[in-house]
Amino acid sequence: MDTEKDSSNEEEAEPAAAAAPPADAEPESRPEPGPVEPATQPTPLAEVADIVARAAEAQAEWAERPVAERADIVAQVKRRLLGRAAEIGLLLHQECGKPVEEAVLSEVLPSADVVDYWTESIEELLEPRPVELSSFAYPRKHGVILRAPRGVVALIAPWNFPLAIPWRSLVPALCAGNAVVLKPSELAPRAGALLLSLFEGLLPDGLVGLVQGGAEAGAALARAAVDLVVFTGSTRAGREVAQICAERLVPCSLELGGKDAAIVLRDCRIERTARGIAWAAFNNAGQSCCSVERVYVEKAIAERFLARLVAVTKELRARLDVGTMPSAAQKRTVAGLLAETVEAGAEVLVGGAPDGDDPYFPPTIVKVAAPDCPLLRDEIFGPVLPVLVVADEDEAVAQANASRCALTTSIWTRRTGHGRDLARALRAGVVTVNNHGFTAALPAAPWTGAGESGSGVTNSPHALEALTRPRFVLVDRSWASRELWWYPYTGALGAIAFALARLRGGAGFFGRIVAFFRLLGALIQRALGR
Ligand code: NAD
Repeated sequence: MDTEKDSSNEEEAEPAAAAAPPADAEPESRPEPGPVEPATQPTPLAEVADIVARAAEAQAEWAERPVAERADIVAQVKRRLLGRAAEIGLLLHQECGKPVEEAVLSEVLPSADVVDYWTESIEELLEPRPVELSSFAYPRKHGVILRAPRGVVALIAPWNFPLAIPWRSLVPALCAGNAVVLKPSELAPRAGALLLSLFEGLLPDGLVGLVQGGAEAGAALARAAVDLVVFTGSTRAGREVAQICAERLVPCSLELGGKDAAIVLRDCRIERTARGIAWAAFNNAGQSCCSVERVYVEKAIAERFLARLVAVTKELRARLDVGTMPSAAQKRTVAGLLAETVEAGAEVLVGGAPDGDDPYFPPTIVKVAAPDCPLLRDEIFGPVLPVLVVADEDEAVAQANASRCALTTSIWTRRTGHGRDLARALRAGVVTVNNHGFTAALPAAPWTGAGESGSGVTNSPHALEALTRPRFVLVDRSWASRELWWYPYTGALGAIAFALARLRGGAGFFGRIVAFFRLLGALIQRALGR
């Protein structure tokens, strides 16, 4: 029963806007920088197979260890991770352009939660599950489902969360008894190297391997003798990886692009909605799979909401609140989508494409006139937010569902019960009411999509469906010299089969009574060896 209070009719005053810091203010403190790992060179492709072979060898021994022992070993990495928070924050800032505090908040701290979650729950999650068997049909037989590790897991990772994203598959993969070979993005090779260095001396040699390089290195790793590929990245590259896996008949888990919508209903809390959407659109400079890339706002509130969204966006400080874009090519893509949409009649309310080579793209809000513009159609992956005014909630839901991607969607409303009901009408893998995107940081909550956002699941026990495979073990303690269904196939066995079919629903009441007596007779015949 929904016990949540429906507050649709509440007349609530908007809280006063939080005072914005002055535009030129520095954050009060910065973490002290520590030593940063040296840049790493691409791995020669000819070496990839050896790295995977070493991982496979180490995995065979690792999988034999008790689950609790593996969890205890992996748990030790948390201290190292948190102890190097400042160094990691600085490295992610240098390599990926994100503000240091954002890097620590969105990558380091959630990764510590990931270690706690998996090392504390893995024993229970991998416990053998008994299977109920009918003692009449299968006397003295007992079945159990074990979860076996896949073997060597290839992790092909994107650059935008170069620590947090591979980490949330690496930790459960290791706890479940797998080896892992990581291929970080060519845009974040130092983050990848640092990540694996945190495990140095904790794990058996070779159990975690590193392959550096770009698309060719990723493809070489997927083609090597790995047993599962966990790929996070663009839909285009995900398709190519899926083809390699299909060819090799190994499973792959795909976490792909996003085109997240925010549905702003007429009864939303304007201040919270404007601030929440500005954060969700512009943190990491809009370069998150779950960045808000489309806003559908009900006409009744559109003007007030847009005024506040623009005001909140103007408060954001270059490089301190909104980071930079490390890929010049991606910056050009974003500028191109913006230019095409403006040409089609959209209005830039704040921001706009920067001139020249500056990697800083100002946060930009665009009021679009029609749903079929490039900014509403394609993944932007940059700090540009198109807003479409819609007539009502039904139109907003239809527009949100019209995308090829379906990762996360948010609904902004005071009627939280209504928001939760509306979640059922959305295609997204994650729906949030009055918040957006942050649930990727919750290790107990599944992170997943549909359509061109892929179908992989990270976080939560559901992630183990890819990282392990079920192994069914049946033990038979029967003393009979043969089973009913073994040879010889006789007339009595046929009679048993047909009587059972009738008894189990293939005949009416009287037919079942007749079948019952036939079954008894046939069982006696069979027991006599006929
Ligand atoms: P990308 O697809 O360019 O690269 C991702 C990784 O795949 C990199 O390591 C890259 O070297 C490798 N790669 C590229 N082509 C390959 C190929 N043909 N074969 C094998 N490997 C290949 O993506 P990116 O720019 O690093 O990341 C941005 C994209 O990732 C965006 O589309 C974003 O939405 C998506 N993403 C999705 C999620 C999610 O959870 N769904 C999370 C983060 C990022």
